[in-house]
Amino acid sequence: MATFHDVVVIGGGGAGLRAAIAVAETNPRLKVAIVSKVYPMRSHTVSAEGGAAGVAAADDSLDEHAYDTVSGSDWLSDQDAVEAFVAEAPRELLRLEHWGCPWSRQPDGHIAVRAFGGMKKMRTWFAADRTGFHLLHTLFQTALSYPDIVRYDEWYVTKLLVDEGKVRGVVAIELATGRVETITASAVIVCTGGCGRVYPFTTNANIKTGDGMALAYRAGAPLKDMEFVQYHPTGLPFTGILITEAARAEGGWLLNKDGYRYLQDYDLGQPSPTPVLRSMELGPRDRLSQAFVHEFEKGRTIDTPYGPIVHLDLRHLGAKLIDAKLPFVRELCSKYQNIDPVTELVPVRPVVHYMMGGVHTDIHGATPLEGLYAAGEVACVSINGANRLGSNSLPECLVFGTRAGRAAAVFAGRYGDTVPAAILAQGRDEERRLKRELERHAEGHERIADIRSEMQTTMENGAGIFRDGDSLAKAADELRELRVRFADAAIDDHSRTFNTELVALLELSFMLDVAESIIACALQREESRGAHQRTDFPARDDARFLAHSLITREPDGTGRVRYLPVTITRWPPGERVYGR
Ligand SMILES: Cc1cc2nc3c(=O)[nH]c(=O)nc-3n(C[C@H](O)[C@H](O)[C@H](O)COP(=O)(O)OP(=O)(O)OC[C@H]3O[C@@H](n4cnc5c(N)ncnc54)[C@H](O)[C@@H]3O)c2cc1C
Repeated sequence: MATFHDVVVIGGGGAGLRAAIAVAETNPRLKVAIVSKVYPMRSHTVSAEGGAAGVAAADDSLDEHAYDTVSGSDWLSDQDAVEAFVAEAPRELLRLEHWGCPWSRQPDGHIAVRAFGGMKKMRTWFAADRTGFHLLHTLFQTALSYPDIVRYDEWYVTKLLVDEGKVRGVVAIELATGRVETITASAVIVCTGGCGRVYPFTTNANIKTGDGMALAYRAGAPLKDMEFVQYHPTGLPFTGILITEAARAEGGWLLNKDGYRYLQDYDLGQPSPTPVLRSMELGPRDRLSQAFVHEFEKGRTIDTPYGPIVHLDLRHLGAKLIDAKLPFVRELCSKYQNIDPVTELVPVRPVVHYMMGGVHTDIHGATPLEGLYAAGEVACVSINGANRLGSNSLPECLVFGTRAGRAAAVFAGRYGDTVPAAILAQGRDEERRLKRELERHAEGHERIADIRSEMQTTMENGAGIFRDGDSLAKAADELRELRVRFADAAIDDHSRTFNTELVALLELSFMLDVAESIIACALQREESRGAHQRTDFPARDDARFLAHSLITREPDGTGRVRYLPVTITRWPPGERVYGR
């Protein structure tokens, strides 16, 4: 059986909800569906803490936000996309305010903004340190007010349906019943978020398995800049739970094992009694994570059962400020680390946090595959280039979710609800394939969890904060072996109701695609830029690599990498300077 909606949005996080609302706003006659593997309010957006960037203060300007983003990206972002982004971000944040988002305020009633890493002016809007929760809640309740937005909560998309180069729907499993359904559409917007779970130690929720990247890749859309994986400098050891950059923006210090603010040794400025914009602890994430590795190599980190750590010191901020501006940080430290940051040092280490790369789109969220759009972390527009600045991601979800929703609405408005027979046939094929997979893997011998954790270790060892040709080539070989073992993975659960083992299997197959594309792109980029640091090619090489990598899937399943020039409008490549 097949159901038709004009636009199907995969994902109910910040980007997906914003895109669905934009479709409904653009053309109220269109029927929109949001298909999400979790209830929308459980999407990873909910866990964002620190805030969302958008120029608000009188002493700030769109050009400065654009320049910080471009230099933070190590000049790999497309500057036309960045200019559109900085111009539309404040409007989107204000829109959210009108929909009910409780932004924190200054005593005189103006929006409060805080400093954030790599941003040289204070421009990060926040709702205490629960920004993602409030943002997602606001979008969710707004989406509820549109009767033509219907939801498929806890439905898992397994395939995009493509006929004659056009995407015309998806196949999804209703997790509660195991029912497989073909959901046809005139346009599909992928908003499935990132893929941090490809690595062993990450801030990302378990659900962030790169499904949408792999779905688009398998359907024929290229992935862009996949080698750029962001490590956030401050995750709690063992759990990987994020201690937001806002903790450093409010004045937190990073100390090595000698109690020394080591960032002053890394060209990031000198210590000052108050937080200084653009320097030391408020440097960009790539530089801070790299500095940690150098401290480790000098023997100046502290060994723990969960790897080497340094300390985040918030004690001098005092209970009053911590409770007012960082209450969630205090709660997380207490619940997951059993410490109180008001009186104790917080152990932290770098942790995989965000994918700069993703599905290649233009500045309207359109992919090269007709009818397919993407927005949010799954997409690469690109505004983040080689390194995203903290607090640019939430507004990216809003700005490009809106743009993708509008473009998809215009595109879908030209079509009726007739769906080619070939699409329906493909849907039935996918249903049969899923049934066969369950039967085949019922006979398997390998544990899904073993293959997954070996893949994660391979990625950390091969494509971590620093990489080189040998480590990447070894990782590529190991992934090939894991792919072979995956064919023999076992499923013990044969039921149809909430078969989480089947979902884990499908997620692992998506993650293997994503992992391979990260390694393939990282191998080919023989330079160091932003989050991609090759010890065998330590310098940035604009002559060869001021370009996006694009990887497409060949018929034999391997990836082919080519390059696309970066769009430069007003800021020619320069040196990244912080702390001066
Ligand atoms: C702990 C943490 C803190 C952060 N803090 C900040 C911050 O302060 N500021 C900032 O700018 N950024 C922050 N980020 C980054 C930012 O929150 C994310 O990049 C952003 O929220 C991603 O939103 P999204 O809509 O693209 O994806 P998500 O919110 O991850 O949503 C993805 C959606 O896709 C659905 N989905 C996925 N696969 C499938 C499938 N196969 N079938 C059906 N549905 C599927 C999921 O159900 C979900 O609804 C933070 C990230 C983390 C992890």
